[in-house]
Amino acid sequence: MQVETSTIPIPPLTRPLGRHIGTGPGMSQAIAQAKEIGCTAAQIFPGNPKGWRHTPLPPERATAGRLGWAEAGVAPLTIHAPYLINLASPDDNLYANSTQGVRNSLSRGVELGAPFVTVHLGSHKGTGPEAGAARLIAATHAALEGMPDWLYLLLENNVGAGNSMGNTLDALGNLVRDAAHPHIGVCIDTAHLWGAGYDLTTAEGVDRAVSEIDRAIGLQHVRVLHINDSPMGLDSHRDQHTYLGQGNIGYEGLAAVLTHPGLAGIPAILETPDGGPEEELIRLRTAALLSAGDAEGARAYQEAALPTGSDESGTVPGDDTDGSDSGTAALP
Ligand SMILES: [Zn+2]
Ligand SMILES: [Zn+2]
Repeated sequence: MQVETSTIPIPPLTRPLGRHIGTGPGMSQAIAQAKEIGCTAAQIFPGNPKGWRHTPLPPERATAGRLGWAEAGVAPLTIHAPYLINLASPDDNLYANSTQGVRNSLSRGVELGAPFVTVHLGSHKGTGPEAGAARLIAATHAALEGMPDWLYLLLENNVGAGNSMGNTLDALGNLVRDAAHPHIGVCIDTAHLWGAGYDLTTAEGVDRAVSEIDRAIGLQHVRVLHINDSPMGLDSHRDQHTYLGQGNIGYEGLAAVLTHPGLAGIPAILETPDGGPEEELIRLRTAALLSAGDAEGARAYQEAALPTGSDESGTVPGDDTDGSDSGTAALP
C-alpha cells in the first residue's frame, strides 16, 4: 500500500533523538545509517555485546570515527556496555571481567568522543543487595579511575526482576547516592519503567513517575532516555521492546514522557527492532512528532506510512530481564 506521507510536516527536534545502530557492518556504515535516518543522537555497542574481547581502536580509526559521528550531526553518541557485565557478581572472575568490560566501554567512549556509557546493574545472585552494592560501587569507581571529566557512566533502571540490583527507583537512587561519584548518572528506559510497575499511559501517570525519579534519584542525574514501547504487561517484570505507540504504553503516554518539563532536552534513544533505513526514517519521525507532543499526529503518520498487519517481527527482547541478560542483542 502506497500512502502519501511526505506532506505531513515533521516538527523541529526538541532534543537529540536517535536509535541504537548496529556496528556489525563497520563504523562508517553505522555513521552513514544514522545520518540517512536523521539521527541527532545514537547508541552503539563498543564491540560484540555478548563477548568480552575488546580491541582498542588505532588512533587514526578513532579520529575518523569521532569526526564521522560529529559530521553526521550525531551529538551525543552514546555507548551501551556489553550484556555479560555483572558488577555485583559474587564470582571473582566474572566481577573482574565485568569491571574491565566497563572500563573498555568507557575507553571506547574516549576514543569516539561519546560522553555517555550505559551499563546494566546486574544481579547479586542471592548474596543480597548490600553485598551487591558494595561490589558494584567499587567496580564503577575502579572503571572510572583516570577517565576524562566529560565522560559519564550511566546506571540503567530495570524491570525489577529476581535478584537484580537497583530493582526499584529507590534502590537505583541509593546506588547513585552511595557511589557519590560526580561522573555516575542514570539512564531511564521507558519499557523498563513500565515493566517495573510505573503506569506511563497518561500524562498523570507520567508525572507521577517523573516525580518518583526526582525524589528517589534526582532528575539532574538523568542524562539519557531509552524511549521504547513495551508489549508486556504493567508491573510484569518482563523486558521486551516494541515500536513507539504500538505497545502498551502507547502514543499519548510516550508523548507525555517526551514533553515532560522534568525531562526536557535529555537525549532519547530508540531501542526498537531495526527495520532498515526506509522504515527507521519513519520510526524516528514518529518519535519527533511525539517529542513535539503530537500524539495524534504521530499515530496518523506512522499508521499511514507503515501499516501494521501480518508483520510479526515487531518486538525484540529487552535488555535486562534478569540481570544476567541476553538482550537487545536481537538488534544488529
Ligand atoms: Zn534500555
Ligand atoms: Zn540497556
